[in-house]
Amino acid sequence: MSRVAVVTGGSRGIGAAISKELKAKGCKVAAIYAGNDAAASAFTAETGIKTYKCDVTHPQICTVTLKEIETDLGPVDILVNNAGITRDAMFHKMTLGQWQEVLNTNLNALFNMTQPVWGGMRDRNFGRIICISSINGQKGQMGQANYAAAKAGEIGFVKSLAQEGAAKGITVNAICPGYIGTEMVKAVPEKVMNERILPHIPVGRIGEPEEIARCVAFLAADEAGFITGSTLTANGGQYMV
Ligand code: NDP
Repeated sequence: MSRVAVVTGGSRGIGAAISKELKAKGCKVAAIYAGNDAAASAFTAETGIKTYKCDVTHPQICTVTLKEIETDLGPVDILVNNAGITRDAMFHKMTLGQWQEVLNTNLNALFNMTQPVWGGMRDRNFGRIICISSINGQKGQMGQANYAAAKAGEIGFVKSLAQEGAAKGITVNAICPGYIGTEMVKAVPEKVMNERILPHIPVGRIGEPEEIARCVAFLAADEAGFITGSTLTANGGQYMV
């Protein structure tokens, strides 16, 4: 069956790989992005996947955009909450703005995006919600009190919603990537990467966005109905829960 999938932050980085992988699996995919029109246009030209500009921190805009997607593609079966940002600072220097921006984008957006599709999934007795958390939500990270709090909160959201959705055929799972080779991570200076990051990753390399995308496809499959409330760790052995 051709499922309808929505991927937030779906036109760049890990999200772009997820959008492409779900399309390759036969899904009709809508990729949401915040404001990088050039990247979104290039992504659509390359993949044929339609993009929707929608700030996931705004509840009403999310509701309207999800309605537009349902008109274009049909009811949403799969939601991948992937959009995320960092605003790193040591806590004694962290501003309220940095705290709120990260919590709004990485945690509050889960409500904004998930609630509008939740009722329909319950009515149709099928749904797949997949949240891209982070290794730093599991272990914490100096300079990322805001990010780690949001990403840990995401895991609590997943475990709670999984219990609510279970009897309705809706699975809710989290994926916790370690270092993945997106633009953000590729910008890390080579010396820092080689001397301070790679020695802590037992497989000896950072991950590729496609490796996270394959985790998503696995959890999104119709056949994955017994897996819910789980946290799938994909970090090259850097942190074992
Ligand atoms: P990128 O910075 O490469 O891409 C982020 C995407 O999110 C972009 O498409 C961006 O849109 C979108 N986005 C950001 N803010 C909003 C918003 N308010 N509304 C809608 N869309 C928004 O990120 P990554 O691919 O590196 O990360 C993806 C996810 O994976 C994040 O949740 C991140 O925390 C998590 N993660 C990443 C790791 C890594 O090593 N890269 C490690 C662990 C977790 P636009 O293109 O318009 O800017």
